[in-house]
Amino acid sequence: MVKLGAHLSIAGGYAKAIERINNIGGNCLQIFSSSPRGWSFARSEVEQIKLFVEAKTKSKIDPVYFHASYLVNLADGGRIGHLSKTSLIAELNLAPKMQIKGSIVHLGSFKDDRSEDKYRILIKNIKEILEKTPNDSFFIIENAGNRKIGQTLEEIKKIIDDVGSERLKICLDTCHLFSNGYRFSNNEELGAFLKKLSTLKIFDRLEIWHVNDSRDPFNSGRDRHENIGEGMIGSEEFKTLLNHPKTKNYPFIIETPGFGGVGPDKKNLDILKSMVSKT
Ligand SMILES: [Zn+2]
Repeated sequence: MVKLGAHLSIAGGYAKAIERINNIGGNCLQIFSSSPRGWSFARSEVEQIKLFVEAKTKSKIDPVYFHASYLVNLADGGRIGHLSKTSLIAELNLAPKMQIKGSIVHLGSFKDDRSEDKYRILIKNIKEILEKTPNDSFFIIENAGNRKIGQTLEEIKKIIDDVGSERLKICLDTCHLFSNGYRFSNNEELGAFLKKLSTLKIFDRLEIWHVNDSRDPFNSGRDRHENIGEGMIGSEEFKTLLNHPKTKNYPFIIETPGFGGVGPDKKNLDILKSMVSKT
């Protein structure tokens, strides 16, 4: 069965997100560990964790991922870099306790300073986070859509090599790929894209897909998400991705604005489900 889920709110407690994903018909999930717009770090509250794991087990929602805070910048050598590290260390320590696979991270930005110094800070920070967190939690790099770190497959590959940990995985976001000149509308094109991943020796790092349509044109360097079928990517790409033998078994998570404008919803999931071939 296809693994289709959404990024949903934890308002009211972590277990509420399980209720929300059940309500819109998903079977996997992505959540924040705390407010994504402030530096409030994930806390291990025993009762909340227990309720979450119980609800997750009961409704068989799996896998579940954290999405790291939007404020994270691991290429920063100052206060922001320190806070980024602290928040990810808290999050990756919490993840296994909640049966969550790890955290999906936007690495941050070099802020027009692509010097070796900035890059060294980035690698050092990722290594330190991994040293201070359990082995059974993944650090999942999401490809960037705009001028942030991780726009190209080559850049992600270099970071993975330089960190040198099996715990580094990759999340590919269709909207961010589209914004950087990667797209596929049939099996041959997707096959060629996957071949690129294999050639770079990072296909085995792929953990999950973010499935979002794009409000911005192809190769625009902008990455505003759109509802499935309402954006510029076109349904063929999603159909191809959901049915290709080499991609159909990955978890697919939507981060769409929603048809009612209140975030990822049932209608987006239903559209994707209708694209999955029954054979
Ligand atoms: Zn994403």
